[in-house]
Amino acid sequence: MVVIGDAHRGTAVLDRPDELDDDLFTVAVQQFDIAADVLGLEDYLRRILSHCQRELTVHFPVEMDDGSVQVFAGHRVRHSSLPGPTKGGIRYHQSVTISEVKALAMWMTWKCAVVGLPYGGAKGGVQVNPKLLSQNEIQNLTRRYTAEIQPFIGPNIDIPAPDVNTNPQVMAWIMDTYSMNVGYSVPGVVTGKPLELGGSAGRSEATGRGCVFAIEEAAKSRGMSLSSSRTAVQGFGNAGSVAAKLMAEHDSPVVAVSDSRGGIHNPNGLDLDRVAIHKRRTGSVSGFREAEDITNEEILEIDCEILIPAALEGQITSRNASRIKAQIIAEAANGPTSPGADTILFDRGIFVLPDIFANAGGVTVSYFEWVQALQAFPWSEEQVNERLRDIMQRSYVSVLETSRKYGVHMRTAALVRAIDRIADFSRTRGIYP
Ligand code: GLU
Repeated sequence: MVVIGDAHRGTAVLDRPDELDDDLFTVAVQQFDIAADVLGLEDYLRRILSHCQRELTVHFPVEMDDGSVQVFAGHRVRHSSLPGPTKGGIRYHQSVTISEVKALAMWMTWKCAVVGLPYGGAKGGVQVNPKLLSQNEIQNLTRRYTAEIQPFIGPNIDIPAPDVNTNPQVMAWIMDTYSMNVGYSVPGVVTGKPLELGGSAGRSEATGRGCVFAIEEAAKSRGMSLSSSRTAVQGFGNAGSVAAKLMAEHDSPVVAVSDSRGGIHNPNGLDLDRVAIHKRRTGSVSGFREAEDITNEEILEIDCEILIPAALEGQITSRNASRIKAQIIAEAANGPTSPGADTILFDRGIFVLPDIFANAGGVTVSYFEWVQALQAFPWSEEQVNERLRDIMQRSYVSVLETSRKYGVHMRTAALVRAIDRIADFSRTRGIYP
């Protein structure tokens, strides 16, 4: 673990050789400190915003299909409710920790602020490998976890959504459990619901689509053409597979993709429809006949112009940043790049579209879904996608301007904008009581 001075007062250390040992919340606070220094943020606001407002941990039993009972740990963390209700996904993964959920909650605050949504940030997670559970067990786990966090969620309080290994069906169970307990249907309690329960058109593709809108803007301002840019995507889940498909629709050869079991590479471009069929059949992209198998580490260093990390956090660090060949890195995942790697990439002229901007399409369309639920008035997919494009384009311009104004990379620029906005809420609202 690296000592970063007083995390509440700043002076973050950029070059951190043992950064992999740091927990994720330490990384999130380091990023915050760098931006707070640039902004000259007041000391008391640094202390407020470098903490999470509420951290809930629950342990709860689930009856398994064989009649045994297992106890799971779950979390729901709210970083800041200054702008309004809090928003953020729920993930099911064996490596979930409270530190990870706190970092993800803090990033949600900044993400919502970067694109101007009226939300603070939150996140939830259950420490479980859902791939080892049956659908029935996942349903039981979801309903009991919902019951445990129920007092702290609601359409005006905190609104969950899908994240790693959760999907519209899981959201439907959360909505149903919450609704049964209060005695009436509350579609606005979660987003990312199935369409027939009041989900939004375009929500399931929104993270990948927003990421590609961000790439389009970056390519335009850097004079790159997408059709002559090769793309590599680490993570072939909800965000990554959609981003890959949309890049291919822009005629960008997608030369490599991967999932949790490994990756594949074909320098001439992959046929993504055939890759998807292979993955459905075998459970993984690896072993695809028309490509060479590679590892999840190798895919990051593949020859390409656009790299989309769309898997988990902590992938690009000071250990591999100097070997990355891409010109643009678009972070569809949350937290894939460490602060040490950010500095190396910036010095090498690699343009990073940071997670709190590049993957904000998901929560933006979640916001649209929430508005549609509150008004009971659905929008068309074209309206959703056009409004999403507009928000991504405007946010890109303002983050780029901030980066030029302060001479900082896009992550710090996005954080500067977000922190400034949230700090203003605090200055104006004052400290209660
Ligand atoms: N889990 C997604 C994210 O990290 C979406 C959150 C939401 O829609 O509330 O941005």
